[in-house]
Amino acid sequence: MTENRTDIKSMTLPELEEYLSAAGEPKYRAAQLFRWMHATLAAGPEEMTNLPKTLLAYLSEDCTFNVPHLADRQISKIDGTQKFLFELGDGELVESVLMEYKFGCSVCVSSQVGCRMGCRFCASTLNGWKRNLTASEILEQIYSITRIAGKRISHAVVMGTGEPMDNYDSVVRFIRLLTDPAGQGLSQRNITVSTCGIVPGIRKLAEEDLSVTLALSLHAVTDEKRRQIMPVAEKWTIAECLDAMRYYFDRTGRQVTLEYSLIRGVNDSVRDAAALAGLAGPLHAHVNLIPVNPVRERDCAQPTGAAVNAFRAKLEKRKINVTIRRELGRDIDGACGQLRRRHIDTDA
Ligand code: SAH
Repeated sequence: MTENRTDIKSMTLPELEEYLSAAGEPKYRAAQLFRWMHATLAAGPEEMTNLPKTLLAYLSEDCTFNVPHLADRQISKIDGTQKFLFELGDGELVESVLMEYKFGCSVCVSSQVGCRMGCRFCASTLNGWKRNLTASEILEQIYSITRIAGKRISHAVVMGTGEPMDNYDSVVRFIRLLTDPAGQGLSQRNITVSTCGIVPGIRKLAEEDLSVTLALSLHAVTDEKRRQIMPVAEKWTIAECLDAMRYYFDRTGRQVTLEYSLIRGVNDSVRDAAALAGLAGPLHAHVNLIPVNPVRERDCAQPTGAAVNAFRAKLEKRKINVTIRRELGRDIDGACGQLRRRHIDTDA
């Protein structure tokens, strides 16, 4: 974000038309410019060869294109997962992850600089919240990775640093731009938004006429336990969260996901698994188990492999569709927010 400049890459096509017509340009220029930014992924005006020089000069003067500076890049020797640390226009740092699967390439993006949700097991929240990202700053994480790694991205997950429902408008704008057929044209079904359970946000998203996958970070089966590990649970109960997820499913027809990070001795008993099955079953939800990624500053240990398997088996026995999140990039500051945090620590 550069002060006072027009954030042109966050504009939809109609907004771009209005902006250019105010600058005395014909309407068709907007479609050209949109394609340069969102389809060709031009880094700046200097690459936009079919636009008039006067317009390019105007854009250079008036706009920011929000292409971040690559501050660090780590590539896992185990599975090829890549972590990118980007420096934004104002010097803030965000991290993004590129994962390759059989079905294509997926990028995990951050939606905020830092986070104010305070989940006890998460590294992203340790330094607090700094600011929201603009739609273009979220998009550019994917665009920059495409340029740097030379890979076409087919999937995106909003599961990096930040709470998407705490930056709702920019996240929805990001989804609309990323799925615009005149840009990268990702399928909405290939985008997953993960929330810690901000109920009004879930309900609002259900009414957006989008068909993205929605994941709820549940992590506990009783309100009492959930409040111990997720401060947001003070505001909304599990029942309220699940009602909102049901509403999302009813409105969009999209199967919802319940994420459940397994923390040894906290939420990993077979009894917890049975209760989780009782919550997921009626919702027809998919359950994604995440053996907790230990964070240095956090006192959370991973359950043993046997405990994870027993937990999964219990869910499967109750006919719940369950996956265990494959642990990618174990050797490269794997857990959410760890790469950024390491840089902040060394800079301080
Ligand atoms: N704010 C969003 C996105 C967070 S990151 C949300 O809360 O859903 C995506 C998932 O990773 C969330 O389910 C989050 O709770 C989980 N997570 C965060 N830190 C983790 C850790 N150290 N180990 C395992 N899962 C973690």
